[in-house]
Amino acid sequence: MQEDLRFFHRLADEITRKEVEEPVVKPIDPKELFNKIDLELDENGTDDEELQELLRQIVLNTPKTTTKKFFNQLFGGRNSKATLGELLAVMLNTSMYTYKVGGVQIGIEKEIIHKVCSLINYPSTADGTLAPGGSMCNFMALLMARDAANRNIKTDGVQQSMTMYTSEESHYSITKNAMFSGLGTAQIRRIATDHKGRMLPGELNAQVHQDMKDGYLPTFVNATAGTTVLGAFDPIDKIAEVAKEHNIWLHVDGAYCGSVIFSDRYKHLVKGLELSDSFCFNAHKMLNTPLSCSILVTKQKHNLKHSFACDANYLYQTDEDEYNPGKTSLQCGRRNDALKFWVLWKSIGSKGLEKMVDQQFHLAEAARDYIRNHEDYTLYSYDDSISVCFNYKDVDPKVICNQLYKKGELMIGYGSYQGEEFVRLVTINSNNENQQIMDFFKVLENFTEKELIAMNV
Ligand SMILES: *Cc1c(COP(=O)(O)O)cnc(C)c1O
Repeated sequence: MQEDLRFFHRLADEITRKEVEEPVVKPIDPKELFNKIDLELDENGTDDEELQELLRQIVLNTPKTTTKKFFNQLFGGRNSKATLGELLAVMLNTSMYTYKVGGVQIGIEKEIIHKVCSLINYPSTADGTLAPGGSMCNFMALLMARDAANRNIKTDGVQQSMTMYTSEESHYSITKNAMFSGLGTAQIRRIATDHKGRMLPGELNAQVHQDMKDGYLPTFVNATAGTTVLGAFDPIDKIAEVAKEHNIWLHVDGAYCGSVIFSDRYKHLVKGLELSDSFCFNAHKMLNTPLSCSILVTKQKHNLKHSFACDANYLYQTDEDEYNPGKTSLQCGRRNDALKFWVLWKSIGSKGLEKMVDQQFHLAEAARDYIRNHEDYTLYSYDDSISVCFNYKDVDPKVICNQLYKKGELMIGYGSYQGEEFVRLVTINSNNENQQIMDFFKVLENFTEKELIAMNV
């Protein structure tokens, strides 16, 4: 063990050095991958020296998501305290189903859930869990909604036509979850959005009325706090009025930007959140915690238990259910995703988390300012979003993004809204400063001029 840890330490040093020297790796063509790097598993093992060199190659050729040139996804950067917590969780290797096995770690998870519930003004009856990703949190919320609408589904299965409502701009996990939950994708009602990508509550209301007239049981409304492309916030308070009137479960998918709950300046974007029945956010997105770290909370703990508790006397042998969170989770064995977030939160406090969130909005504002002041650019996104969508000189955004990637210059992706395609700059790495955003534009401009326009690509 000691020798492996020493190797890890040396490699970690090299990784952090290389992240500064060469922040982007040149991608390996997947057709050549197995020829370039020895990934084959054999009957015989590999001695330590050879294994270490191989691991070095593998690590140094993996895309560098933590560097200042990664803007491709809704995560990025490395927080050292959160990473420390994650490394400790790996060393401890507990499973989060019982107090007997998880011990103190169960208390750590409970504290996170408790603090989040009180931050969003949920009542003392609220509870939650940590699930492997936002998609899974959304799935759990849908299952609770389904079972709350009909207490017999657990035994009888879904026998009614239950409808669910989500905006056209919502995440694709909502569609997948319709497939898994037994509701079926034909029962999804995709509600239109306004020009800024926010769900139209009037359209929602009209659709619910129509469905009730047609004999459906409206079961689940999903509002998004930070849509995946534009970073738009659905008007939760207005949507809640519709949901309450018809007694429909309201879930808020805050996987991307739900962390605004930590910011005095930006929490107004989720106004009315306390009216929801469940809410989730990904600490591995805005809060810079290593993947994955997703928190799901719900207003009435009994719904969580009703949908997920199942007895197993080979597992639950000590302590009350209160301290055995296996009774409120989709899984059996469950990774300890709580410790890394707790170490981060403990070290910088809620005030520190607030600063991270505010910095991301600040960087987005700087990017939008730059775009507005340079006539070669067209802006497609709006204020109060950390997704900055734009085009440069009518060059195809797909070509810009794919070529930047192939040449190892930058990691950036594209998106589309209402027929327009554009580059999407995500300013989610709060370690970045204005300078990195300006550097981003310089790299993009130089590259586009030299490699695309001059070469006529
Ligand atoms: C990222 C995202 C998800 C999915 O979260 P995972 O952790 O990747 O499963 C769901 N909804 C929205 C709005 C997202 O941005």
